[in-house]
This record gives sequence, C-alpha cells and structure tokens, in this order.
Amino acid sequence: MTINETRYQLDRATLSELLSDHPNYRIEQLWKGMYEDGLDISDISTLPKALRADLAAILPLALSNRTERISEGGETHKWLWGLNDGDAVETVLMHYPGRSTVCVSSQAGCAMACGFCATGQEGFRRHLTTGEIVEQVVRAREAAKPRRLSNVVFMGMGEPLANYDATWGAVRRIHEDLGLSARHITMSTVGVVPGIKRMAAEQLPISLAVSLHAATNELRNELVPLNKRYPIDVLADACATYVSSSGRRLSFEWALIDGVNDTEEQAIALASLCRELRAHVNLIPLNPTPGYPTIGTDSAGVSRFQRWLLDRGTNATVRRNRGTDIDAACGQLRASQSSTSQPVSSPRRSRS
Ligand code: SAH
Repeated sequence: MTINETRYQLDRATLSELLSDHPNYRIEQLWKGMYEDGLDISDISTLPKALRADLAAILPLALSNRTERISEGGETHKWLWGLNDGDAVETVLMHYPGRSTVCVSSQAGCAMACGFCATGQEGFRRHLTTGEIVEQVVRAREAAKPRRLSNVVFMGMGEPLANYDATWGAVRRIHEDLGLSARHITMSTVGVVPGIKRMAAEQLPISLAVSLHAATNELRNELVPLNKRYPIDVLADACATYVSSSGRRLSFEWALIDGVNDTEEQAIALASLCRELRAHVNLIPLNPTPGYPTIGTDSAGVSRFQRWLLDRGTNATVRRNRGTDIDAACGQLRASQSSTSQPVSSPRRSRS
C-alpha cells in the first residue's frame, strides 16, 4: 500500500481500493471509525493492529497543532494549524447555548483584498484541499465533546467559492459522512457569482450568507473590491436564483464601520434589497485589524442601524462578538500574526 494523500482527502471508493487485499467489511469499519466515531486510525479497535499501523502510516494527518487558545470559560476555542507544506490556517470553535459551531478556513490567505479584513490584508497563498477542510471539522468535533458539533460555517480564512471544488467536496463529506444537516452548513461568500450559481445547481440546499457590507455600488466598490466585477444587481440575481432553487433563506453579513456604512441611507438601500430577496441581516460591529484603523460602530449606533432596518420590515439580528480576546473574531484571522500568540497551558473543558 502506497499513497500520497492526507487522511480525510480520499473518498470511500479510493480507500476501498486501497483495502482490496482485505475482507470487504474492512472499509466499513475504517470509514465508520474515521467519520462516525471520529477515531484516530490507531484507535479503531475493529481493525487488526497491523492494518491500523499500515493505514496510519500511509494516511498522514494534514494539520499539526501549532497553537491552541481558549477564551474565558472555554466558550471559544481557536487553533492555528500547521499544514504539511509549512503554511498555516486557523479554525474557531464556538459554543452557544444549544449549539456548537465550527468556523473553518478554505484557503491559506485570501485574494479578495477586502481592506478591513485581516486575512484580506495578508494576500493569497494557496487553496486548501477537501481533506484539509474536512479535518478541521473532525478535529473540532472531537474537541467539542461532550457537546455535539451542530453547525459548520465557511467563515474562516479565505473565499470558499474561489476554491469551489475542494470546498464543495468538503460540504458533501460533512453532510454525508459527518452527518450534519444541510441547513446547518453555511457557505459565506463575498459574492463570487459563478460559485453561487454552481451552488444553485447542486442537490444539497445548504445555507448561504453573503458578506454585503454596503448596499450601494459606490460604497461597496470601496469596501469589497470584487464588487467591481460582480456589482450588486448581478449579485442579487444570483442570490435570487439560489433562494428559489434551494428554498433556503438568504442572510447578509454586515460589519458596521463607524461613519462608513452605518448611515440611514445605507439602511434604506439594504432594507429594499432584503425585501426583494426576503433576506435576513446579521449585524456585527467591525473588529479592529492592523491594516484598517477605522473603528466599529458603537453599540448605540448598532441599535440605531438595526432599528432603521426593523422599521422597514427587515429582519436584523446583532451578532455577539466572539473571541476578540484571543484574536479569533470575524476578520481577525491572520496566520502570520497568530503564530506569535501564547498557547494556553491546559485547555479547560467547556460547560456542557
Ligand atoms: N470570504 C468569505 C468568508 C470569510 S470572512 C466572506 O467574505 O464571506 C467571514 C466574515 O467576516 C465575512 O462576513 C467578512 O466580511 C467578515 N469580516 C471580515 N473582516 C471583518 C472585521 N474586521 N470585522 C468584522 N467582520 C469582518
């Protein structure tokens, strides 16, 4: 047996070929052990010891734990993973009452260049593979125990729809083999229109979040450079296609930036877009990043903006900011910086 792939990259058929000299039931035992039970291969006790050792050797893990940080009370847990080529990405696990969500990275760095985002400031390095994305979920699911990992969001580093095939491969694995329901998997995109259209043609109706941040092209061109390629009306058309094919409600992400996109004019334009698409808005005050000195809107301004939307019949919720104390908040993921952060000595168990 020789193979040059990481553990969660190979599909079941390929692993099955790898086991062709063994009884047929071995693939079921291996697959169940890896995906359903979340075991390390050396701990899959249904497999003979020698086979476990062989498989573990030819199917190396993709992620090594460089730094792990846990915030007060264990509610937010962040990893900086080293990849096999020396690059690094981050994953964040968040516990809420009644649900646990993992936020995964889809690329090392990002090419979308949104000025307010730390990952965007860093630039693009490479796409992650399906195996590297799936392994983030598997490792977080283990760390979440005894809580059940219930949600996966593609809101870590990178633009998932600019890495469509690997990302969609991971979505399918997360749904089919890790058993998460489609509605509990959320794709977050800056507005890669061809990717949204491809998603609309897939059979799996996952949730879609679009990082809008501005409802006029003039402002959005400044905040989200990709808007020059796919302006708001083109993006809205693609979103409408997705909503009608998937039957899912769309959500818009909106990072409130002091004096920039927290005006009534923006709220009015946003509310009309939301009416058209029956979308929901997630508001979050902008988190500070090194390359973008503007601050987030204060809480009174956030409430005011929310009120402007609610008064126009648009459903808007304010997202609680998580993980700011460990640089794990939205837009703060930046591998080169976090590598200097201090690891926690003993991970505390989260409340169950
Ligand atoms: N590229 C994808 C997914 C990664 S970003 C996307 O853009 O959707 C995840 C979310 O964090 C996006 O909504 C992004 O706009 C937001 N974000 C980026 N920088 C931020 C910051 N500094 N403060 C708050 N949210 C930020």
